[in-house]
Amino acid sequence: MQRFKFAENRIFSVDGHPFLFLTEENAIFEMAADLEAFVKGATPLRPQPLSQLMDRLGGTEAEKRELVNALLKGRVLVPEAAAPTPMASPDPAAIDLPLQTLVLHVTEACNLGCLYCYHGVSGQGVGPTRSMRLPVAHEAVDFLFAHSADLPEVVLVFFGGEPFLNFGLIRDVVGYAREKAAAKGQRVQFAATTNGTLLTPEIIDFIHANQVGVTVSLDGFEQIQDRYRPFPDGSPSYRAILPGVRRLLAHPLAKPTVARVTVCREPFAVPQILDHLLSLGFAEAGFAPVTSENPEYQLDADGMHALLEIFKLLAQRFLEFARREEFFGFTNLVDMLVTLHEGEVKNYPCGAGLGLFAVAPDGRLFLCQRLTGEASLAMGDIHRGFDRPRIAAFRKKARLSQKTVCSTCWARKICAGGCYHEALVREGSVQQPNLHYCEWIKRWIETGIQVYGRLASSQPEYLDKLSLLRGHGAPVQPML
Ligand code: SF4
Ligand code: SF4
Repeated sequence: MQRFKFAENRIFSVDGHPFLFLTEENAIFEMAADLEAFVKGATPLRPQPLSQLMDRLGGTEAEKRELVNALLKGRVLVPEAAAPTPMASPDPAAIDLPLQTLVLHVTEACNLGCLYCYHGVSGQGVGPTRSMRLPVAHEAVDFLFAHSADLPEVVLVFFGGEPFLNFGLIRDVVGYAREKAAAKGQRVQFAATTNGTLLTPEIIDFIHANQVGVTVSLDGFEQIQDRYRPFPDGSPSYRAILPGVRRLLAHPLAKPTVARVTVCREPFAVPQILDHLLSLGFAEAGFAPVTSENPEYQLDADGMHALLEIFKLLAQRFLEFARREEFFGFTNLVDMLVTLHEGEVKNYPCGAGLGLFAVAPDGRLFLCQRLTGEASLAMGDIHRGFDRPRIAAFRKKARLSQKTVCSTCWARKICAGGCYHEALVREGSVQQPNLHYCEWIKRWIETGIQVYGRLASSQPEYLDKLSLLRGHGAPVQPML
């Protein structure tokens, strides 16, 4: 007799309504109350004959069958020997993935002296530096197109240091990449992360003319920006940056621009910072606790707790905006809601070392922009090609299934162990899961699920709009 089991799950209550979260698939269903009792009464993954399961259900035979069919369709109930979920991605360690995003580290030089900088000496900038030369940049572009197979679109990201210190190279490379894209019948998108100090009218015109997606690293209002992100001589940067940022955001061709904020010792200022950045005209701002070994800047346990409580308050504000069909540009929550809405299943925390690599000024390839220069993590170079055995070994070890401590975590298919750079700094190896923030991230995901549940019940189309905002189609989430 065929036996069935309940998929691994977790039940969340949102305003008194039960929501079922499937751990392996990141799928969320709103449940009727009687179904909650049925699911709660079953031990996930323990196979049972269908007749036994049916006996525990109320209603007529036809109603029971209908419900069981719905559970099977939603993969809440699966055959005892269920095949891997169709949504799970294939094993990237075993296949030749096309290269979609290449980050060009166009210069190591920077004109700010951020106190928490992970590249340089605190407050003194980055010291002796190298910048990418044009032949290397052209070769990197050739490498991107040569390894992007038949992807319809590739992305070239300019990163540093401060990338606009090498503006001449960026300008040339954008034209070169466009020619290459046209010749190969692909589209190319451009992005840059800047500290905002060099946003001259010429650079802003170039950014908008070429639709470069810009992220500005800016820590907030004047006191905080000047405290943590001064010039190397200690002089304040906020007032030097502001005119260029205003010009960038007010340009008639401006694309929605995002600010990225590093949170150090002042988590309580986050709402004020977000309001300030949105009032300047940024479409969104995302917040990340500083990754630093220096306890002077690192948020301690109390600071992380405060940050979580503040994120929860911002999540409430997000809901108030959503109720009015308005948008509140709190990137951390928008990203979480889109992940949940699309049921994205992660076997790796991010695209680093999969479809994304970074190129150092000398042409060496690294896992991502933040890991550029980590000699032990070089993955070949653009002249001789990928170091395939190394990449395969990295993918094998970095895969979620290798992180045994994560195997019983309900949030594993959203977190997947967390950022490799963070893991290197805080846990000593890119392959280690970020166990120092497990409780934090799980509580933040729980907050995201609460917000998701509210929107899914009352304004499901609002969630579709968020997916569209991120350039994705609107997925279909069934309800049970
Ligand atoms: S790092 Fe922690 S929160 Fe993330 S998947 Fe592993 S156990 Fe879960
Ligand atoms: S490893 Fe961390 S910094 Fe690098 S791409 Fe992934 S999440 Fe971003």
